[in-house]
Amino acid sequence: MNVSVVLFTSDLRLHDHPPLRAACDNHGGQVVPLFVRDRVVDAVGFAVPNRLAFLADCLRDLDTGLRERGGRLVVRSGDVVEQVCRVVAEADAGEVHMASDAGGYAHHREQRLRRALGALGCRFHVHDRVTTVVAPGGVTPSASDHFAVFTPYFRTWSGQPLRGVLDAPRAVRVPDGVASEPLPSREDLSGLSEGLAPGGETAGRKRLTAWLRTGIASYEERHDDLAGDATSRLSPHLHFGTLSPVEVVQRARRAGGPGAAAFERQLAWRDFHRQVLAARPDAARADYRTRHDHWRSPRESEADVAAWREGRTGYPVIDAAMRQMRHEGWMHNRARLLTASFLTKTLYVDWRVGARYFLDLLVDGDLANNQLNWQWVAGTGTDSRPNRVLNPVLQAKRYDPDGGYVRRWVPELADVVGPAVHEPWKLVGLDRVAADYPDPIVDLADGLARFREARERG
Ligand code: FAD
Repeated sequence: MNVSVVLFTSDLRLHDHPPLRAACDNHGGQVVPLFVRDRVVDAVGFAVPNRLAFLADCLRDLDTGLRERGGRLVVRSGDVVEQVCRVVAEADAGEVHMASDAGGYAHHREQRLRRALGALGCRFHVHDRVTTVVAPGGVTPSASDHFAVFTPYFRTWSGQPLRGVLDAPRAVRVPDGVASEPLPSREDLSGLSEGLAPGGETAGRKRLTAWLRTGIASYEERHDDLAGDATSRLSPHLHFGTLSPVEVVQRARRAGGPGAAAFERQLAWRDFHRQVLAARPDAARADYRTRHDHWRSPRESEADVAAWREGRTGYPVIDAAMRQMRHEGWMHNRARLLTASFLTKTLYVDWRVGARYFLDLLVDGDLANNQLNWQWVAGTGTDSRPNRVLNPVLQAKRYDPDGGYVRRWVPELADVVGPAVHEPWKLVGLDRVAADYPDPIVDLADGLARFREARERG
């Protein structure tokens, strides 16, 4: 029984992959690289077109990489535990390797696998630091099971020794007789964002190399520049694990300088949210810290939510951001902060409504990062200033000073020159703007007063 199964989940790569390396080093044995299209993930609404398309690219690229090394990817669909056990039996495997992951479902899956594989007499190895730099729970404050504040977390996180980066295996020998379903293909999907980025480890590694060469040095000054689009756009690759976060940090540290330090801090946010979710899986749905909100009812807020989704709120930077997300399946971080603040505070709509819509579209849509960032903005999460409200006009003037971001995504305003684009209601003599572009759906001062009153009442 010198066969190992490697179950790939959010770690769709060959480089720096501890479970795959451990399996390949298993005394020269054979390996079944397995991906299960998990029906639970489909059932709870996580399998949305943009992410399925990116996933299809990832699986194809993984299969190609394995074939170049003499192997292949085995794809199955259904219940993940049943499928793993079936493959173990078919291949007569003696061990299964996989990466650990945060979140209630990942924990439940791991427990079920441990029980089922134990009953089969099959060893089960769960590897930390595959999808994170520091494992959730790997560092804790003295009196709690997780850090609730980012700054002390980051201080501790930064002091942790990094594990070494592993090469991709040179050869992968897959036993005969383990059949695979056909690989999914992006071409079979409909409803994709037109400007969706390509997925896969090859694309991810290229982007990382280009980013380290030309982008990272100016990250500190430019990461909030909406029109400059000067962030790494590595988030879908980190979400699907086509890039190893440990390798990204190691290579960023080698690049050095203030840009790399600022970039590394953002990567630590990713681990921070994962350790919160691992300790409090319910934070995917429930307030991490309740503010006793009585959010506006779905009926009362229906028209506002529809305008927000469609990018027709009358606030150009909000509309630009929502349209960018629809077009690319991705949105700039500053724009995510503004649109989330606008929905939860200015419109006083439940953060879950916005989080769900983001998960429907974002190619990097990620339970830990999405839900906990939404909670952070809504003030129900880990933000130490829960009642801060971002003013979309002031923020737009600051982070899109010339208005280039708005003009790119809101064609109705494409002819408006300079920062005047952020306040179209002040424009006179532009008939086209007046005709095509909506008036603001809410007065900012009214929105602010409603929010403050609600929080004081709460
Ligand atoms: P860069 O600025 O280049 O940062 C590098 C990496 O650091 C990112 O790829 C990401 O993995 C990580 N990172 C950066 N900012 C954050 C952050 N605030 N929290 C956690 N990790 C961070 N990120 C997701 O990956 N998936 C989501 O579903 C998601 N939803 C969000 C929802 C809201 C309301 C907000 C405010 C933020 C959300 N983010 C999410 C975090 C952040 O906006 C994105 O990670 C970032 O915009 C991705 O672009 P980038 O790769 O160019 O980031």
